[in-house]
Amino acid sequence: MTAQASFQEPWFQVLQRVEPEVKRTHFLTWFQHTAIMSLSDGLMIVGVPNVYAKQWLEDRLSQNIIQAVQAVLPEVKEIMYELHASLADPQQKMGIDVQKLFADKKRKQRKVPGRQEVRLVEGVSSKCLNPKYRLNSFVVGANNRLAHAACSAVSSAPGTLYNPLFIYGGVGLGKTHLLQATGNGILASDPTKVVVYMTSERFTNEIVDAIGKRNSKAFKDRYRKVDCLIIDDVQFLANKDRTQEEFFHTFNELYDNNKQIIISSDRPPKQLNALEDRLVSRFEMGMIVDVQFPDFETRLAILHSKCREHQAVIAPEVLEFIASNIHDSVRELEGVLIQLIAESQLQNTTPTLRSTAKIIEKLGRSISVSESAHMSIDNIRTPEEVAELVSDHFKISLDELMGSSRKRQIILPRQVAMYLIRNELNFAYEQIGDSFGGKNHTTVMHACEKVEKLIQKDKSLDRDVNAILKAMGKR
Ligand code: ADP
Ligand code: MG
Repeated sequence: MTAQASFQEPWFQVLQRVEPEVKRTHFLTWFQHTAIMSLSDGLMIVGVPNVYAKQWLEDRLSQNIIQAVQAVLPEVKEIMYELHASLADPQQKMGIDVQKLFADKKRKQRKVPGRQEVRLVEGVSSKCLNPKYRLNSFVVGANNRLAHAACSAVSSAPGTLYNPLFIYGGVGLGKTHLLQATGNGILASDPTKVVVYMTSERFTNEIVDAIGKRNSKAFKDRYRKVDCLIIDDVQFLANKDRTQEEFFHTFNELYDNNKQIIISSDRPPKQLNALEDRLVSRFEMGMIVDVQFPDFETRLAILHSKCREHQAVIAPEVLEFIASNIHDSVRELEGVLIQLIAESQLQNTTPTLRSTAKIIEKLGRSISVSESAHMSIDNIRTPEEVAELVSDHFKISLDELMGSSRKRQIILPRQVAMYLIRNELNFAYEQIGDSFGGKNHTTVMHACEKVEKLIQKDKSLDRDVNAILKAMGKR
């Protein structure tokens, strides 16, 4: 699929609206070379040049994009992000060059329209949900079983069983995922329902706005139409008395009319000290469930599921390594994986324990490794160690590699080993010859030159060499 030129202008307009809302560096980085690939039946596909951008647009910027798209392309009902590596190719000029366009714009200092208010007209409000969050993509373990079950129940029969549903737990443990997935579930079974998802900050902004415009009646009326109100991170309503008061009334109104309310928080209601007692006691009327950090097996299952989602194949020992080193946030777990996938795509290599360890260390985490993992993470200093990595990689025995077999499938790996020892460990040709059972230095020299030339032409050999370099900690 290629980006269609007719969509360039609307996408530019969307970006113009998004730009004042997000950090400049984020804007310039994540929207660079993006494009609308297609738009039909309300489904808009946005092409992105790499998985990093996909992740950012989906996770952090989707609300901004949704709002802007609503204003520019009202026919859009759903937005999906797809990886199109060709967008990164400047020759093809497919994706929008935001860095150039918005640098020009800055020079001219043109004014762009400011924040768009999301109007709670039916149907439209539901768009604040990100379709990527599904209950069936949520990996269930002992840590979140009850929360997941409660969300499933609410999603099939909102406003009846568990009302309100209150989910609490630490950062990055899946609260937002569950909340949004429940909203999506409600809509999937009945698209006419009005589901409103809001962070408590956004809720506060709406109220402040309404008060400023002396329009709090209109505000109240709007919420009457809602079938399910989802407020994320309610702890941020702390000390916002006026907002809490409005929320209290909205809550009662919805509750009395058997409308579903779902709330998340970083702590249980009882510990929300800075919230009014009457509000806290409302939260306690329904179902209260927590999400904890997943155990090792669940962490591993989450990584496997995210690999499937990103269509990435990563060695089991690498996934185990991540699962055993990231202990307190699923978001971080996913972050390491995404970075690993992005790096391996950009550098055309296969993720190894060592490259994974580097990413985890960058996060400021200390690494704990098993004995076998240690072997491949320690520094490689001797020709034997290089030979071992090479024989592992090509799945041939070390003896054959170091011996004098003339089989083709042995010769090339042997030459690669010589090349790496020469280039990475700076050993002299003679020394290398000695390590390989007393081979002549010209044989070694020839091997090094040959590999050097071959990797320019042979993509697959280049990948092999990169993977071994990575295992050596050189990449
Ligand atoms: P919170 O709102 O609790 O801070 P999020 O819902 O934003 O956390 O979760 C962070 C990331 O981790 C999201 O990308 C989410 O999809 C993912 N995640 C968390 N728990 C799970 C799980 N059990 N299964 C699949 N993905 C999960
Ligand atoms: Mg959250």
